Amino acid sequence: MALRALFVDFNSYFSSVEQQELPHLRGRPVAVAPVLTDSTCCIAASYEAKRFGVKTGTNVGEARKRCPGLVVVEARPSLYVEYHHKLIAMVDSCLPVTAIRSIDEMCCNLRGRWCERETALGLAHEIKARIATTMPFMRSSIGIAPNPFLAKTASDMQKPDGLVVIDEHDLPECLFRLELRDFCGIGASREARLHECGIRTVQQLCLAPKETLHRAWNGIEGDRMYALLRGEEVERAPSERCTVGHSHVLEPKCRTKPLAEAVLHRLLQKAAARLRTLGYLAAGLSVSVKFLGQQRWGEEMNFLETQDTLEFIRIFGLLWQRYPASAPPPLQVGVTFFHLTAVNNVTRPLPSMESSRLALDQAMDRLNQAYGRNTVYFGGAQPEVAAGAAPIAFTNIPAKEIERKTFPARACSH
Ligand SMILES: [Mg+2]
Repeated sequence: MALRALFVDFNSYFSSVEQQELPHLRGRPVAVAPVLTDSTCCIAASYEAKRFGVKTGTNVGEARKRCPGLVVVEARPSLYVEYHHKLIAMVDSCLPVTAIRSIDEMCCNLRGRWCERETALGLAHEIKARIATTMPFMRSSIGIAPNPFLAKTASDMQKPDGLVVIDEHDLPECLFRLELRDFCGIGASREARLHECGIRTVQQLCLAPKETLHRAWNGIEGDRMYALLRGEEVERAPSERCTVGHSHVLEPKCRTKPLAEAVLHRLLQKAAARLRTLGYLAAGLSVSVKFLGQQRWGEEMNFLETQDTLEFIRIFGLLWQRYPASAPPPLQVGVTFFHLTAVNNVTRPLPSMESSRLALDQAMDRLNQAYGRNTVYFGGAQPEVAAGAAPIAFTNIPAKEIERKTFPARACSH
């Protein structure tokens, strides 16, 4: 069985970013907290602090007691997001990033020659070397295995600065020293359920028949776990819907690059609202343009799953920079969200910045539902609306009178 996945996990991510940014924090015990008060909890701790028993979730007051000299710094979410994008680009320059699993985790599929042990290890060393050159305080653990699930498990087995390969012939024994909860997908309630089914150790989990796991997971998720533990490649549980998107044929007067961009902005905002109504997050966006004549252009990007319009607009901006310089007039444009996950299947906590953005998105959705779809929107769609083209695309033409009287400031800029 080939090695088909390489997983990169950054160690003590938030505190490492702080140490990378602020030289005086290097080598010192650092904890990151959402606000600077002793009553809150640490959201990250550097390895120097972890040695004193400070970890994510430790109360700040308690952390100060355990670790004299602890430096507590206030979280800077936008800085962590900025590093997230830089690190993805850096890994991607060595090996294409297939999926972004969280702000500090990404997975790359290995194909062809990359599946060979030595080549895969070489790639892992290259990723580490490239990061070490530009951001020496960002340390990573890399796991290589027959599937992404085991690669993630491998990345957790050695920290910090780990590099672990799980070969097929090491399975399942190499997993026996782990705890049930070390596996992605086994939380407190699943663990309790496994106990009920007579499974208390990873060895028991690995040796249990498929029917037992089916019972423990109340269905096919148990069959998936059975296959994953054996190194098989298993598709992610498919969401009922695979994509959400919109496309639009441009009117003759809109067949220019700036107006095509404005139409795409509107389609993007419309699709994002639909994504939220359907209860999905997206981790991929593609933009496509069909030109007069048969030529086409399209670009896509993977990112950390979200349903936030401003984040989609930012990603769209990156994709749009790749628009061909000397293209014929655009005829049809489209946006598509893919890699969808149902909101209630997402376990990661939402950073506070993201929740406030979501509140804005939801408020805009409500206004647009109540007063017509074009009542409020982000500014990128404005040129199209100004060109008088927008209402044509809507099945429900917004009542201009209501718009003007109720919301004199129609465009919401960012
Ligand atoms: Mg991490």
